[in-house]
This record gives sequence, structure tokens and C-alpha cells, in this order.
Amino acid sequence: MKSQEIRSQFLEFFKSKSHTIVPSAPMVIKDDPTLMFTNAGMNQFKEYFLGNTVPKFSRATDTQKCLRVSGKHNDLEEVGMDTYHHTMFEMLGNWSFGDYFKTEAIHWAWELLTEVFKIDKDILYVSVFEGSTDSDKLGMDQEAYDLWKKIVPENKIIFGNKKDNFWEMGDQGPCGPSSEIHVDLRTEEEKAKISGRDLVNADHPQVVEIWNLVFMEYNRKADGSLEKLPAQHVDTGMGFERLCMVLQDKKSNYDTDVFTPLISQIEKVTNSKYGVSEKTDIAIRVIADHVRAVAFSIADGQLPSNTGAGYVIRRILRRAIRYGFTFLDTKEPFIYKLVATLSQQMGEAFPELKAQQNLCENVIKEEEQSFLRTLDQGLVLLENIIEKAQGNTISGQKAFELYDTFGFPIDLTALILRERGLDLNEKEFNAELQQQKDRSRAASVITAGDWQVIGEEEAENFIGYDHLEAAVKITRYRKVEGKKEGEMYQLVLDKTPFYPEGGGQVGDKGVLISESGEKIKILNTKKENNLIIHFSKTLPQDLSVAFKAVVNADKRKQTQANHSATHLLHQALRSILGTHVEQKGSMVNSEYLRFDFSHFSKLTSEELNQVEAFVNTKIGDQIAINEQRSLAFQDALDQGVMALFGEKYGDKVRAIQFGDSKELCGGTHVKNTGEIWYFKIVSEGAVAAGIRRIEAITGDAVKAFFDDQITTLDAVKAELKNAKDPVRSIQNLQDENAGLKKQLEILLKDKAKNLKEELKAEITSINGIQFLAKKVDLDAGGLKDLSFQLGETADNLFLLFATEQEGKAILSCYISKELVANKDLNAGKVVRELGKYIQGGGGGQAFYATAGGKNPGGIEEALENAKQYIQ
Ligand code: ATP
Ligand code: MG
Repeated sequence: MKSQEIRSQFLEFFKSKSHTIVPSAPMVIKDDPTLMFTNAGMNQFKEYFLGNTVPKFSRATDTQKCLRVSGKHNDLEEVGMDTYHHTMFEMLGNWSFGDYFKTEAIHWAWELLTEVFKIDKDILYVSVFEGSTDSDKLGMDQEAYDLWKKIVPENKIIFGNKKDNFWEMGDQGPCGPSSEIHVDLRTEEEKAKISGRDLVNADHPQVVEIWNLVFMEYNRKADGSLEKLPAQHVDTGMGFERLCMVLQDKKSNYDTDVFTPLISQIEKVTNSKYGVSEKTDIAIRVIADHVRAVAFSIADGQLPSNTGAGYVIRRILRRAIRYGFTFLDTKEPFIYKLVATLSQQMGEAFPELKAQQNLCENVIKEEEQSFLRTLDQGLVLLENIIEKAQGNTISGQKAFELYDTFGFPIDLTALILRERGLDLNEKEFNAELQQQKDRSRAASVITAGDWQVIGEEEAENFIGYDHLEAAVKITRYRKVEGKKEGEMYQLVLDKTPFYPEGGGQVGDKGVLISESGEKIKILNTKKENNLIIHFSKTLPQDLSVAFKAVVNADKRKQTQANHSATHLLHQALRSILGTHVEQKGSMVNSEYLRFDFSHFSKLTSEELNQVEAFVNTKIGDQIAINEQRSLAFQDALDQGVMALFGEKYGDKVRAIQFGDSKELCGGTHVKNTGEIWYFKIVSEGAVAAGIRRIEAITGDAVKAFFDDQITTLDAVKAELKNAKDPVRSIQNLQDENAGLKKQLEILLKDKAKNLKEELKAEITSINGIQFLAKKVDLDAGGLKDLSFQLGETADNLFLLFATEQEGKAILSCYISKELVANKDLNAGKVVRELGKYIQGGGGGQAFYATAGGKNPGGIEEALENAKQYIQ
């Protein structure tokens, strides 16, 4: 069975059991501070389990793009080494939200595997939770055990501990006991030697877990304790690639049709062969895996970068580049050449890949070029370190510097050293690394306490599209500790006019005013899953009273002008540059707007003018907003409303329209484009391969900008004696200036000639040295010219010239070559020694050197001492 069919049969099976098929959520998570990437199918349903949101359906099924490279679930080190862990993989799942529980979950899983997919029952093992004796004090899962006992012989049931059979999403959040299904894919011969029972959960590549059925019953709180969830849920996850391995009768995920096209392409572009040596096999698997992770996240809108999720992606890509570099001898970019294969193969199930293939290729190629350069430089630096090293062990600090400052991978350093018969002081390296980790953790960690719940939120509790003020109540609060901000509080209100940061728009600021007049400043507003969280430095004395919530209206007004202008800018770019332009990021606050988009060349000034004119025309047209708050997602797409890749949209969406500009958007906007007043681009540049950035201002900021320009212009005019045409005047001045410069040059040449003659006459002979030390009114360049000109007219010269320029002293020393050779004189030494009189220093060559100092008063002394020096 082809992988495509396997995926659709899974979904169809659960559809036949009344499950709604839902799309995969984006792999890169944007509104949950506890999670960077989706690591399990259940992430997008977390709020349903916690009871914060009421689901629209009680049963769902999907295939979810997951990435396990950070946090609690991190498989990066396994990937490539083994044959069944990936960074990015698809997790097939079925869910019950307070609907069915263990009975159906277990029976359906068994039915699908053995009756639909017809997997031989004999090769399957199941596990149940054995309970725990630690502080959680959980009993064994008797119910699951009894259910399984009716299906499989007892010797196929294995008891698992908390690590294997109690599933938790992270340090906090929903969790519960689980029942896993494992397969034993070994030959009969091997099975005879040791029972599969003993190999379950023992990291055997042919005895692997394929499906985990989690029975969600608890919530792990911030203080580490468990609380019962309001309802019981089912959350299952089956690795799609592992299922394909079983159904296609393979021994490795990489031998299924999910990976074979990629592997063939790698063989082709790197001129290598899979299945020949363990080392190259690992490299090929790493690359085949990592290109998927990187391409999927770029398609989700997350580009490689220096911070956060972008940095994780960059490191994955670099790991692939590095494996190619070391084991497949690839010294040129090649990973970008795999994207087409991937998009051909998965583009149907994940159209975002196909749509952004071009961008993926460009971004990956540029990353490859830059990292290959880093590797080249790093190799040179490492050579230096090796050359200077004493003994056979290379210092861990040096290796860390190479890793930290230049991005040179430590495993590569270790490998090269090993090849040279040298050792790396790993202890030192690890200590440095730990220190760095501690430093960055100290800078970024925010620890949040548990919510103290004192009321309930209303269902649709954001009212900020219509109101900037409202009577509200606090429904929950918690204390958070940020190393940077110190102690803070987070407040949730029953309803709120405060816009939470999102869709590129910053969160609102403002104030809560209690009945008694107490004021609590709201410093920022953010969303965490479905909760709108208000940040404050203080808590009100009485939390239970009514408050007036007041949004800072000025800031909001300017922010929304910038937001609406961003939509018009997007439309302008697509209409002027072409429809290949896609939004790749945006940031809108009260001061300015920033818009990143895909486009392959710098915008000409003419294009920029056109874009500005386009937007300003739309502003001048005074187009009223057409806002549809609750539109079916599909209807919106049918109406031609633009949606972004990598955004999570519900089935009801909000569409914002200004004339022909139509976008899905949750942000706040002007009622009429006239309110934007004026749009002005202030910069245009590149942020990554194929991605440009425009920064622009609107409204009051433009007024300030023009005021500033006019003030400057007025000042210029005033300097030009109020010239009518300042541009003409400046041109005239420049012409005049050029003419004067020429004349000056001629005069200076004459002067230098005269000076040369005069000075020549002043040279005296001391101990066979033609000596002159004198203050001359020339600049540093003039002193040098003069010295060399004199140098051509006589032998055995020692010249020390000094000058004072703009309050600073300069010394210049010239010594003829014969003196340097025969008398061991050195101009560099001379200026260093005499430099102390002018409170400065300098250097140069043996026959010519200069020094600068801040004490012109010392010039005379320096000149006198030059004479003594020679004597
Ligand atoms: P393992 O012990 O094999 O790492 P797990 O216990 O971490 O698996 P779960 O968190 O229960 O796995 O995830 C559910 C299913 O997702 C697993 O049964 C497995 O089929 C699949 N899976 C988990 N991690 C990976 C991975 N890194 N690559 C591919 N599939 C995976
Ligand atoms: Mg795991």
C-alpha cells in the first residue's frame, strides 16, 4: 500500500466512526509561550482538554505535522543514527473530547490495525500503565488491562512505568496514563532467540512503538501536582512513517516510499550510494530527514534566523549541511536541490509546500552558502589552534570560542582532532557551554505560578473591535517571575477591550481603574492559547471589585492606521511587483510598520514611488472598511480573501476589506482609509534570500517626519543666506569649492618646493648623520611627501618633523636606508620613544614612521630630544 493510501485509510476509518477530519495545525506555534513547535497531535486541542474552550465536535481525526527537536520531546540526537525517529514526522490521531473513553479507543485501534490494515496479530504487543509510588501515587490502569485481556493473550500485555506509559505534553498541561501498541518486525529465527516481550521499550530498531493511546484525565500544574480534569478525553498518536514501515514490510522508515524518492535524489546530487557504509548511510538519513523539517517550517512561515524557533531551524539545517560536508564530501550547496522532490511527493497532502517551493529553495541555498563559508573559515582557524597547541590536547576554551563566535560545530572539531591524533579537552568545553546556557537561561526564563481563579470569562470576551473602554471584572490572575522584568502579574478579565498581541500587531497598553479610583497600569496584552492576558507590575488591593478598563486610545489609533496601511501596502506590492509577492512577516506598532515579503530583487526607486503613490491614492479615496466578523473559512476563500500560510484559522474567520484589498485578519483597523492620512516608506532592504523588508510610517509619524525635513531644509536655506533655489546654490558652492581646491593644490606644491630648499639649507651634520628636527606647518600627508622628497636629494638623512593639527601633535620620522642598515637606527622606535613627549604613540617601518599625541605643548621637547638621541 502506498503511503498516500495509508494516510487516507486511517482518516476514512475514523470518519466512519463519526470523527470529523480536521486539518493539521501549523508546525510552528505562535501563541503559546510554553511550546515552540507542535510536538504531538494533541497540541491544537489542549484548550479542549483543559476545559478552557468548548469544542465544536466531540470526535476528531487528523494527521499532524510534528517537530521534536526541543523541550520535553527532543529526538534530534537519535535522528539518522536509528531508523525510526525523525525530527519532523506526521502523527495520525483520533480524539474524543469528553465523549468515548478507553473501551472504544482500544477496540477501534485494534480493529484498524488488524482488520483494516491486516497486521498479523502475533507481531503486536500492548502495554498498560503499572501505576506509580512517587508523590503522584497513581494506581495501575486496571480498566485498560481488563479491556486488552479480552483481545490479546496475557503474555502480550506489558506493564510500563511512568516514563513509558504516562504521557505528558510538557512540564505543565494535560496528561494521563497510556496504552501503547508495539510491533515486532524481526525474523522468526531472531524471535526464537529472545522474546519480543523483552525487547519492548528497549530501543530495538525492529521492535518499536507505533501507536500511543492516551487517556487524558489530569492536568499537571505549575507546582508539580496533578488535578483531575473536568472531563475524560482520548488522545491517540500513531507515527505515520512507522506505520508505513510495517505495512510496506520494511525494516526501516527510510525504506518506505515516504523517504525513498528523497534518498534517490540525495544519491544523485551528491554522487553517493545508500546502503554501502554505515557512515554515509547515517549522513543520508540525516539529510533526508532534516530537509523535511526545514522545508515544512519555512512553508509555515518560519525562516532560519538567529533567535528562537528560527535558530532551532537554522541548527537543524546546519546539522544536515555538516553531515554532507564531512561524510558525503559536499562542498557546494545541494540540499536545496531536494526541495522539488519533497514538494512533488508531499505537495498534495500539504499544499503549502508546493506553493512555497521556490522560496524554500532560495532560503535553503543561501543558508547553505553562508554556512559552507563558515566551515571554510573555521577550518583555517582550527589549523591555527592546532599549530599553536602545546602537547596533544586542545583547550576546550579555544574549541568553544570556535563554536560560539564562529558557529563552527564542535563535533566537527572533535572529528578533525581525532583524525590528527589529538584530543579535545571536552570537560573544559562542556563547562564553557554550561556557563553559556546558564547565562542565557538566566536572561530569558519566565516562571509562571498557577492561575488563581476567581470568576469566569465570557464566551466571546474580546470586545476591543467596538470598545476602547468597558466595565470589567478580574476572573483569574497569577504571579510570574521574569529574570529581565522581575516580578509581574498576569490578569485575565471577564471581557476586555485590550487587543492582545497577534497578527503582527502589538498588544494594547492602558489602565484598569477600580471603583475606589485605584489605578493598575496595563503594560502589555498577549494571548496564550485562548486566554487574553494583561500584564501589570502590581495587583489591585481588592481583586473582586468592578474595574473600568481603559485602552490607551492614542497609541491604538496610530497602531491601527499602521495596520490598515500594511494591508494597502500588501495590495500595492502584489499589483505593482506581481502576485508572487507573499507576506512573510509583519510588525505593526504605534510608531511604524514593517512588512516582509517574498520578492527576488531590490525595489527600484521608481517602484518605491509607485508603491507609495498606490497606497496614498487608496488613502485619498477614503475607502470605508468592510468588516465581516464571522465568515465561514471556505466562503472567505471563495470571495478571494487572502489567507497566510502557517497561520491557524478556525472555521469562522474575520475578513477585512478596503476596496479590492481583502485579507483574513484579527487586528484592529481604521474605519476609513482617510484616517491613515499619509503613507511614507522610510526604508527598503533584504532580510533573507528572496525576502525583502519595507518599513514605513503613517499619520502623525509622517507629520513629524515632514516637520523634521522642513526644519532641516530651513536651516540649509538660512545657511545659504535664504537662497531661493537652495539646490542651485549648493551646486554653485560645490563648483566653486572644486575650483579653489585646484588652485590650492598648485600653491601648496610651490610652497613645498620652496620649503624643501629652505629646509635643505638647515640640515646639520652630527656624527656623520645629516640631521634635521623641525616644526613645519603641514598636515600628516604633507610631512610624508616632504620627507620623501628630501630623502631623494641626500644620503644619510635623519629627519624629524612635527606639526600641530586641530589641537593634536604629529611627529614624522624619516631615516635613510643606509642609516637603518649600518647604524641600526629605526624610525618606529624613534617615534615611540619621542611620542611620550606629546602624550601619544605610533609606529611604522624602520625608515619611516609617525606618531600622534594629544599634547602639542610637548613638540619642542620632542625635537630637542631627537638631537640628543642622535648625539
Ligand atoms: P518513542 O519511545 O519511540 O520515542 P514516544 O513514546 O516518544 O515514542 P509518543 O510521544 O507516544 O512517542 O508519540 C506517539 C507516536 O508517534 C509514537 O507511537 C510513534 O509512532 C510516533 N513517534 C514519536 N516520536 C517520533 C519520532 N521522533 N519520529 C517518528 N515517529 C515518532
Ligand atoms: Mg520519544
